[in-house]
Amino acid sequence: MPTEDQSALFRAFAHANAYLEGLDAAPVAATATLEDLRRSLGRPLPVRGTPAAQVIDELVADTAGGHHGSQGGRFFGWVIGGGLPAALGADWLTAVWDQNACLYASGPAAAVAEEVAGAWLKTLFDLPAEASFAFVTGCQMAHLTGLAAARHGLLRDRGWDVERKGLAGAPSIRVLTNPDRHGSVDVALRLLGIGVDALELLPLDAERRVTPQGLAAALGGQAERPTIVVLQAGELNLAAFDPFRELVPIAREAGAWTHVDGAFGLWAKTAPALRSLADGVELADSWTTDGHKYLNVPYDSGLAFVRDADAHRAAMTLATSYLPAGGGTARDPLDWNPELSRRARGFAVYAALRELGREGLADLVGRTCRHARALAEGIAALPGAELVSTSPLNQGLVRFPSARPGATPADDDQRTDAVIAAVNASGEAFFGGVTWRGRRAMRISVSNWRTSQADVARAIAAVRAALAT
Ligand SMILES: *Cc1c(COP(=O)(O)O)cnc(C)c1O
Repeated sequence: MPTEDQSALFRAFAHANAYLEGLDAAPVAATATLEDLRRSLGRPLPVRGTPAAQVIDELVADTAGGHHGSQGGRFFGWVIGGGLPAALGADWLTAVWDQNACLYASGPAAAVAEEVAGAWLKTLFDLPAEASFAFVTGCQMAHLTGLAAARHGLLRDRGWDVERKGLAGAPSIRVLTNPDRHGSVDVALRLLGIGVDALELLPLDAERRVTPQGLAAALGGQAERPTIVVLQAGELNLAAFDPFRELVPIAREAGAWTHVDGAFGLWAKTAPALRSLADGVELADSWTTDGHKYLNVPYDSGLAFVRDADAHRAAMTLATSYLPAGGGTARDPLDWNPELSRRARGFAVYAALRELGREGLADLVGRTCRHARALAEGIAALPGAELVSTSPLNQGLVRFPSARPGATPADDDQRTDAVIAAVNASGEAFFGGVTWRGRRAMRISVSNWRTSQADVARAIAAVRAALAT
């Protein structure tokens, strides 16, 4: 007989199974409106408590229709990913164990799971063995971590202790970047006090890749200035990769620090057939990626890696008398993380990597890329659709020009948004929209381990049906 507390867990387990088993039949897009959700969840603040199992049952009932089916195989919006069974199970246990993974002393197994998974990831990505790492909440916090290490390293080399003195009076840092960088880089720069005015945009080639000539010219003549170069492994629309093998040595020669946003693109390194896309990425100084996207670990899971472990540690560590130093060789996450108290995020990553193995991971990444291409080409072949781009990775763009004689680009944009809305309303698949080079497009992103050929066919059929309306 479960005690009352346990019965809440049993209820959660039953609801979870029903949810996962129902994914294929349920609408992919959330169906509840904002008003619906405010009405169902917006109970008065309770004075008296409610039995735990009832809280769980009512949470499920009150949020019904308020979840996107992103755990399923026909969700292609943003870059979201699902949850591998072992990662999901490990994530539940992480909550059950409820460790504070800030220190080895406060979460011994949690600290070691991160140590092991971090080393596995460095091997998978070909990163230097001496690189340090941090398990954070997402790529934005990974940028904060990697760029804080960059800030420390560049200013240390100029005799300035930024952790002690702050940035006022420090040599000013400039940040040369691929103009298509993700906005999360800007937020990290804001939080670090570097500011977005420090950004200088680098010239791109026709494939939206930073050019060696452009980088060399931008670096030239300012070697004394602390400089960060932000490059990209996998941009959201074309999945463009900067030519790292050419660019990073140019940056290093000029004394600059190269930081790479690899939120999903870094995973190309794990698939033999795709790894050349990110050729030379391992030459950089810091790298970021997500576990919650391509690795299919439940939210939230981000990862930062830094070549200069001393700079990373100096930027993040907290030494106080009430915190015991790690037992000899133990790894204390607080030396590497922006958070102090924190969830034991390593367990889910560890479990995902074990469930897949190298082969399973390569297969997952390769499969999603094939599905993305099949979706883009299959949709583009429909009457009323047009291919904008495919990519060698998991992203694609299509659009739906207006059939009206004399239609303007604005009409095409409107039609594109209308078709996306109709597909999403059908409940059969979910796609996002994007303004790309001034025109609306439907973005296709495949990063869920569940997506199958049948899902691809069903999603194309849903677009066909939406086009017929
Ligand atoms: C998703 C994404 C980010 C931000 O990652 P979060 O995990 O949401 O913080 C940064 N860069 C790229 C390329 C992304 O796709």
